[in-house]
Amino acid sequence: MVIDVLIIGQGICGTFLSWYLQKENKSYLVIDNNNSNASSRIAAGIINPVTGRRLVTVWMADEVIPNAWKAYNELGSELDITAIFQRNIIDFFPNPFMREGFLDKINTGDQYVHAYPEQNHFNQLMNYEFGCGEIRPVYTVNLEALLPAWRKHLVEKKLLLEENFELPALKVLPDHIEYNGITAQKIIFCDGVSSFENPYFRQLPFAPNKGEALVAEIPGLPDHNIYKKSLMMVPMLEKDMFWVGASYIWDFEDPGPTTEFREKTIQVLKEWLKIPFTVREHRSGLRPATLERRPFVGFHPSHPVIGILNGMGTKGYSLAPYFASQLVNHLCFGEKITPEADVNRFRKILMR
Ligand SMILES: Cc1cc2nc3c(=O)[nH]c(=O)nc-3n(C[C@H](O)[C@H](O)[C@H](O)COP(=O)(O)OP(=O)(O)OC[C@H]3O[C@@H](n4cnc5c(N)ncnc54)[C@H](O)[C@@H]3O)c2cc1C
Repeated sequence: MVIDVLIIGQGICGTFLSWYLQKENKSYLVIDNNNSNASSRIAAGIINPVTGRRLVTVWMADEVIPNAWKAYNELGSELDITAIFQRNIIDFFPNPFMREGFLDKINTGDQYVHAYPEQNHFNQLMNYEFGCGEIRPVYTVNLEALLPAWRKHLVEKKLLLEENFELPALKVLPDHIEYNGITAQKIIFCDGVSSFENPYFRQLPFAPNKGEALVAEIPGLPDHNIYKKSLMMVPMLEKDMFWVGASYIWDFEDPGPTTEFREKTIQVLKEWLKIPFTVREHRSGLRPATLERRPFVGFHPSHPVIGILNGMGTKGYSLAPYFASQLVNHLCFGEKITPEADVNRFRKILMR
């Protein structure tokens, strides 16, 4: 089989990369081992314009967020699904200081941080003695529908190999690669934390970050919003189901679920909610994060047949559509990759 691009991984990066290649009439094949704990499968899929306690606007928000809305809607209409919802965050202040900080931010005229006039609206459902505000626009990706729908499309078109990619079988030549009978002009790794072990890229400053979340059934909690206090409750596809999380851990022993997170989260929910809930699932995995919190996008300086789209950290659902498109435009038309994301900023390290 002779193709333009071999893609490793069908998380959110591999999904968008394959779609944009398809739009440019490039031939490709995706190899994915369907790891159920892959970051894209356990995430909430939130696209949030602000981050942290200080509600700082996220990197490239003004470009990346409108682009995400457009890209998910386009891919959704191709697949005949709703791929993205607008669900603003109702931010319940855990203490008077957070309330102050939020109000100060509103007073600066911030475009994403707003007052929530109906302060008593959630009184029947939850405890929040210090009031609430609203962050908008915020989106959630319907990842439970999107990832399987794109996978189905790939399977139907015979563009997916559901297996493990084995690096020792990869032969890298100056102008193409060979892998188990496949010849491709390029190979692009979208394999999340697996790239951390990849001899071509493991020198990059990756920094895996562990995240855990629960899935809880909360009958009676409306699904129009994301609710945030110390955790977020995010509506899922199935009625009454909410993703509740997440932890954010740099220093961990293994990627598996912990009793500590489960118990702490249940305690938070008991104190927050006035209505009953039942925990249905406990998820845990690693975010493909990087030390400087910027992605790795582009081709290897010594082996230009090998590419990477990775390092999306906590923001894969907003960054992946943007940088997948950039990478395809770079490949097809020689367009520039944003310097802070271009993997060639590590040229010296990668050429060692
Ligand atoms: C708890 C949690 C919550 C999160 N919430 C959000 C959120 O709300 N919003 C947001 O934007 N981001 C969130 N993230 C981060 C987000 O999930 C990631 O940034 C993003 O999913 C990374 O996508 P990816 O495609 O690079 O990698 P991955 O999702 O890891 O995908 C890699 C793919 O490659 C496959 N693969 C790996 N190795 C091989 C191999 N050797 N052979 C074959 N296939 C292979 C895997 O099966 C997988 O399908 C969250 C992460 C966690 C852990």
